[in-house]
Amino acid sequence: AKDEGKNRFMIFETRMHEQLLSRLDQEARLREAVHRGELRLYLQPVAGVPDGRMYGAEALVRWQDPQRGLQQPGSFIPLAEETGMIIEIDRWILREACRMIRQWQDLNPRTAPAFVSVNLSAAHLEQPDLTQQVEVALAETGLSPHCLVLELTETVLMRDVAVTSARLEELRRIGVKIAIDDFGTGYSSLGYLRDIPVDVLKIDRSFINGLVGNGRQQELVSAVIQLGHTLGLRVVAEGVEESDQLALLTVMGCKFAQGYYLGRPEPAATLYERLNDRALT
Ligand code: C2E
Ligand code: CA
Ligand code: CA
Ligand code: CA
Repeated sequence: AKDEGKNRFMIFETRMHEQLLSRLDQEARLREAVHRGELRLYLQPVAGVPDGRMYGAEALVRWQDPQRGLQQPGSFIPLAEETGMIIEIDRWILREACRMIRQWQDLNPRTAPAFVSVNLSAAHLEQPDLTQQVEVALAETGLSPHCLVLELTETVLMRDVAVTSARLEELRRIGVKIAIDDFGTGYSSLGYLRDIPVDVLKIDRSFINGLVGNGRQQELVSAVIQLGHTLGLRVVAEGVEESDQLALLTVMGCKFAQGYYLGRPEPAATLYERLNDRALT
């Protein structure tokens, strides 16, 4: 029994060791990913309701890992956030997204998204030079600030209301728009809608999920849409996967939606080619 215990401990220790090594390994490879050009810009349409036409697009990161293939953000964003690498990743995505949309607007203004939405993590809001970073990306790519939306989750926005408000005011002063991402999942009070300056409210997909056949859920989503509109915000419903959901949202007066039913995230160049019948030069 004593040996068994010792054995079990050794197995445990070995596994911990392996996990640590694999974490360090992944950390090192993620660090290299940015420099080796392994990150990919994906875009998902934000569509008008009910016509379904692309109005804007959300930038989503992917990692083309030479060892493991295409990685979804869920498999590397948490590590990137822990290690601070998210700053560099987000800066890359910001620049790529601005560059791509500006190029698209130049080449074919008729099909180009009117705005691009970029996700920022908590670490970014803490950077004192965030506004300058954004200004540099806009200046270097030539994208109009009015075409850029920065998405932040409720939880991130709530961390320090005073600091957040000041930083967001700065960004809005240069013409950039701010979106609350995953609205409704943060368990926070509505007071911050009054205190934090935002332009766009994105209703989390968990509220759209069970919409069909659930009267209470419909009342709730309908009320959130009204609230957003009353506050002068653009409201986007996330995670629309079927036509019945879109029909309900139309009746509720929702003007924008995003989800697999309206378009999946795809490589920026592929989306461009599909909508313009030609490759990017
Ligand atoms: P998010 O910002 O809420 O992005 C929307 C996520 O929902 C995307 O997942 C998208 O593919 C997925 N989605 C869109 N429509 C549907 C639908 O109809 N049904 C379902 N089930 N899912 C849908 P993705 O690309 O895997 O990204 C996951 C999360 O990772 C994002 O959630 C965001 O929080 C984070 N993320 C992605 N790209 C970036 C980035 O460049 N920077 C930062 N900081 N975070 C990012
Ligand atoms: Ca988002
Ligand atoms: Ca979201
Ligand atoms: Ca999210």
